[in-house]
Amino acid sequence: SVKGQYQNYFACYDDVLRRRLLLEQEIVDGMEQALADGQFEIYLQPKYRIADGSLSGAEALVRWNHPRWGLQSPAVFIPLFERNGFITQLDQYVWDRTCAVLQGWREKGLPPLPVSVNVSRADVYNVDLTGILTGLLQKYGLAPGCLHLEITESSYTENPQQIIDTVSRLRARGFVIEMDDFGSGYSSLHMLHQMPVDVLKLDMQFIQSEPVTPVNQEIMRFIVKLAHLMSLSVVAEGVETAEQLERLRAIGCEYAQGYYFARPMPVEAFERLMTGTDA
Ligand code: C2E
Ligand code: MG
Ligand code: MG
Ligand code: MG
Repeated sequence: SVKGQYQNYFACYDDVLRRRLLLEQEIVDGMEQALADGQFEIYLQPKYRIADGSLSGAEALVRWNHPRWGLQSPAVFIPLFERNGFITQLDQYVWDRTCAVLQGWREKGLPPLPVSVNVSRADVYNVDLTGILTGLLQKYGLAPGCLHLEITESSYTENPQQIIDTVSRLRARGFVIEMDDFGSGYSSLHMLHQMPVDVLKLDMQFIQSEPVTPVNQEIMRFIVKLAHLMSLSVVAEGVETAEQLERLRAIGCEYAQGYYFARPMPVEAFERLMTGTDA
């Protein structure tokens, strides 16, 4: 009967929910210990200059190397940590490890490529971001220009005045600010104009939208042109094919990041890429 079907559906739904809650509880129970045990690892994904194909930098992306579940993607645990507040601790750990990597490059005589770290909304609004980050630069003897900060577009809309103040202070100290996932949120072009940022990261939905139409190509061209008018450079995320790369080149986008070039990789693999010994 119809009624029977629904009962079945709810029983099944209940089960999925229960398993999800159990999994979430297990994640929450284990997170502090995981951090202490060094189970969180930094992966680096290269960014390239479209004009000449040269390596221009990297983005640090966290992975959870869980003893039983294996390598976990941030999609599984970041949203949860954003809700329970643990993200602040995890982010500070990721920034610290990233600065240690940058210091290591200097000691090994590797080129000073800039690495960007992700800064979550909670970090922007709840902690002394400028104090924490300048403290890290001092600890590792780094110049601020080598650490780029990616702040998602949606973080800007919560309290624009507060974020303008924070970001202005960071830029005054020499940090480079990248607006992440641009085009995925609800910020207006007017707000973009007011925001003291240096780089626009074009959300991957633009480059990946199918089918490719003249209209979406013109939308991208328009955004890149507008960014350039505001003296911002543009990085396209999620570039997976040579065709997508050519479309970006045609509209004057400067940088690209995506599986077409490389997936995020362990630090040692990235260092081989930097020195050209990975071939
Ligand atoms: P994001 O900062 O926008 O990072 C880009 C995401 O796109 C990464 O996913 C990357 O692996 C993925 N990606 C790169 N190229 C391609 C491509 O060509 N195709 C596709 N389909 N995907 C591509 P990842 O590593 O799973 O991270 C997801 C999100 O989790 C990040 O999005 C960021 O918002 C968050 N995240 C990752 N690490 C951290 C962190 O240390 N702190 C904070 N607060 N958030 C983080
Ligand atoms: Mg990012
Ligand atoms: Mg992004
Ligand atoms: Mg994203």
